[in-house]
Amino acid sequence: MSAYMAEARVLDTAALIAWPIAELSGGLIVHHQEEELRRISPDRAAILSSIGLDICQPSQEFLNSVTQTAQQSGDISGISETDLALLSLALERDVTLVTDDYRMQNLAEIMNIQWLVVSETGINEIWSWALICSGCRKKFDAPEITNSSSKEYGNCHDCGSELRLKREK
Ligand SMILES: [Zn+2]
Repeated sequence: MSAYMAEARVLDTAALIAWPIAELSGGLIVHHQEEELRRISPDRAAILSSIGLDICQPSQEFLNSVTQTAQQSGDISGISETDLALLSLALERDVTLVTDDYRMQNLAEIMNIQWLVVSETGINEIWSWALICSGCRKKFDAPEITNSSSKEYGNCHDCGSELRLKREK
């Protein structure tokens, strides 16, 4: 334990690797991550026990509930056992989850878990789209729902050229 009470946060493995050691103190992680870290970043894994992390196991009740939510949202196919455990832990302890994973961020939103990014910009900025005219480059608002099976977005009101969907920033 460190001398001061650091804010308890659930840290995904990307945070364990990217953040300065001092920032990690007081963080909550799950058992699976020790293994993951040994594989991805042996240097960090070697000092894991001296960082002052709290290695936890979420209760089965919360794991079941989070798994069910992930099945309903469709995120389950792209999410790992570690991810589910981290989400469950954040929900159970009512603490912030630190993750760059969009599926985890999406699930955190659904379950009202506070989340922070490790290094990237957040989900709200990533998923910003606009329709751009292929002729005059004029920008139009993107459709509310992106239908990936249809690449037709109509034509520019000004010059009549084809509109194309572009991700902004
Ligand atoms: Zn145009």
